[in-house]
Amino acid sequence: MAEKRDYYEVLGIQKGATEDEIKKAFRKKARENHPDLHPDDPSYVEKFQEINEANEVLSDPEKRKRYDQFGHAGVDPSYSGGGMGGFSGDMGGFGDLGDIFENIFGGFGGFGGGGGSRSNANAPRRGSDIQESVLINFMDACNGIKKEIKINRMSICDSCKGSGSDGASSSEICPDCQGRGSVKTTQRTPFGAISSTKPCPHCAGKGKIIKNPCQKCHGVGRLRVQKTVSVDIPAGIADGQPMRLSGQGDCGVNGGPSGDLLITVSVKSHPIFRREGFDIHCDIPVTYMEAVLGAEITVPTIDGDVKYNISEGTQTGTVFRLKNKGVKKLHRTDRGNQYVKIYVEVPKNLTKKQKDLLKEFEASLSEKNYAKRQSFFEKLKKKFDL
Ligand SMILES: [Zn+2]
Ligand SMILES: [Zn+2]
Repeated sequence: MAEKRDYYEVLGIQKGATEDEIKKAFRKKARENHPDLHPDDPSYVEKFQEINEANEVLSDPEKRKRYDQFGHAGVDPSYSGGGMGGFSGDMGGFGDLGDIFENIFGGFGGFGGGGGSRSNANAPRRGSDIQESVLINFMDACNGIKKEIKINRMSICDSCKGSGSDGASSSEICPDCQGRGSVKTTQRTPFGAISSTKPCPHCAGKGKIIKNPCQKCHGVGRLRVQKTVSVDIPAGIADGQPMRLSGQGDCGVNGGPSGDLLITVSVKSHPIFRREGFDIHCDIPVTYMEAVLGAEITVPTIDGDVKYNISEGTQTGTVFRLKNKGVKKLHRTDRGNQYVKIYVEVPKNLTKKQKDLLKEFEASLSEKNYAKRQSFFEKLKKKFDL
């Protein structure tokens, strides 16, 4: 098949198009390019199929996300090993078509389905990608971790080595479809003949007939098996970040390459630390006295506790930086920083005696002990003068 066109280009929309814009663009394009409106030009069959395929992906948020991230490889139906015909073999792929038919023909519903563009069922095809997600701890994301994950992947049947045949008996080309795996049917309708391609019923789309199918895989040549994959999650990975393990997806068909394993890493939140990129943020409570007199405080970091001296008269909201105490940057050697925000915890549940002591202490203070308060009231005064 020729190089695939960008789906956004196919629908004539911008990459950031809204769902509504996609829907409208699809309807317009489908209406203009419908093969039945261009009976003399067979190129519209392919054009129409391309439009449907683009819509199928872009109108599905999950598929669209994958397409945006990985391009055609993330969603391409011709890569999907299991089914036959991908989008075109499945009538669901025509989605909103009923509406369009209603618009064009006023209620005609017997559209025969698009022809599969794959001409040879025995051509090598790439295996499907497998999506998995893994949840790791905050600290493991900082330090990196090896995770074993279980996946169900299609693998070559070890009993028949992928041939699908039992023992020495071999397979033969299907006489009904001459190995193509699909047959063409022509349907007479009031609007002329509509040709469509569907999987060959004789060989179930495989293009060959296996005389003695393998007992283990029932002639498919592939089996879904559970496999444990060891994944090296690098230090510095962020919540929601995808990883691609190439060749660890479903095995290919007819000698095609394996698909990839796509892993989305989710990171648990931490009770004290917050991450922003590769920087760590945390808030630390200090006592009223520590803030007033200054103190050596203990600051937790992802490497363990460190001591830090806060100066006399430290205010709530003061932020200090611990250089290189952040997360190791992904695939690099340097690290982010840690930012520590101080807040003063106001003591509660004081006894009468404590309250009296505090009142006595407060009475001993003057305006010059409260520079901020003083400047605030001065500003306030000026405001009324204006
Ligand atoms: Zn087998
Ligand atoms: Zn056949």
